[in-house]
Amino acid sequence: MLVFADNAATTAVSQTALDAMLPFYKEFYGNPSSLYRIGQKAAEALQEARQTVADCIGADPKEIYFTSGGSEADNQAILSAAEEGAKKGKKHILSTKFEHHAVLHTLKKLESQGFDIELLDVHENGIVTAEQVAAAIRDDTALVTIMMANNEIGTIQPIAEIGEVCREKGVLFHCDAVQAVGHLPVSVHAMHVDMLSASAHKFHGPKGTGFLYCRTGVRLHNLIEGGAQEKGRRAGTENVAGIVGMAAALKEACDNLEENRQYVTRLRDRVIEGLSAIPHSILNGDRERRLPGNINMSFEGVEGESLLLLLDDAGIEASSGSACTSSSLEPSHVLLAIGRPAEVAHGSIRLTLCEYNTEEEVEHIIREVPKAVQTLRDMSPYWEELQKGERKFYVVQ
Ligand SMILES: *Cc1c(COP(=O)(O)O)cnc(C)c1O
Repeated sequence: MLVFADNAATTAVSQTALDAMLPFYKEFYGNPSSLYRIGQKAAEALQEARQTVADCIGADPKEIYFTSGGSEADNQAILSAAEEGAKKGKKHILSTKFEHHAVLHTLKKLESQGFDIELLDVHENGIVTAEQVAAAIRDDTALVTIMMANNEIGTIQPIAEIGEVCREKGVLFHCDAVQAVGHLPVSVHAMHVDMLSASAHKFHGPKGTGFLYCRTGVRLHNLIEGGAQEKGRRAGTENVAGIVGMAAALKEACDNLEENRQYVTRLRDRVIEGLSAIPHSILNGDRERRLPGNINMSFEGVEGESLLLLLDDAGIEASSGSACTSSSLEPSHVLLAIGRPAEVAHGSIRLTLCEYNTEEEVEHIIREVPKAVQTLRDMSPYWEELQKGERKFYVVQ
């Protein structure tokens, strides 16, 4: 059995999306800027995709800018707000410690350019509150950027409340909703966001495609100069097939959102219940306010990377954190932000499920993970020290 349980890193492209894309590689491969028929056919498809995407988040098609994915959308939103803020002498940007690196590294760059970057602490349950945001906003705040759902621990932030605070105080609000779009209801109006990022490959669309919602009246600056595509805000011949596939995948996800959410939540809860029986294990992130498919757990006395290798042998594809962190030896910044000590953060795995996973797969996970944890503990000097009382358990039960 092969179980793909890393859907927060990427997802399989849905058959619907694939079927929608193929004609734009084979027949209608024209450049949307060309005046002949296959070009115009591509231009029409782009327009239709823009409408579909806008409808899914309650926006106007004029407010949708297609990008190469979530990272580009995050970069463009943040850098645009920073430039606009700087013009008015506003150089304070408010975010959190557990954002995606596409946000954190962009903020780091701005810091080196003289911006005042403030990262809010995250509560132990993986949630940031609107009260924290309200207390930290200043007269010179140019932007608040906070993610809707965390990619590692899956916790869902009170975005509508945070958006309301920002709107009241007249501060721009950007939301990295890459993990949420297609999985949770998203309405840009109800959430009071000015800008919002999404990525197709997180909801069964193709990789290398995403979008930035930018409310009418909010100024966007280019990352890429060139032609007049995307109203002059993002040059380069459009990834027509990718965009068409993204729109088809998003429509499919939104049409089936409630049904998928209930099914995936049931699978998730079964895994959490099964793995919580492992002694000295702890769930990371709030038990209830989390993405339907997210399970992130720490097992004391275990090395997360080794656990992943054993699970791979058992046919389970999972992650030890975000895809970006798993190739480095740094403990996850997200787990550190919620107060896990480095040793415990190192012994963590993330399993992320989707509607393609089955109950049999979930049973396989519940059978295999405890075995792998035991195997590693049996050979761990660290675990032995814990057993002998030479070290204190962090996770007591
Ligand atoms: C995956 C992800 C991104 C990056 O999206 P890409 O399309 O892979 O560039 C940004 N933010 C979050 C929260 C993500 O999960």
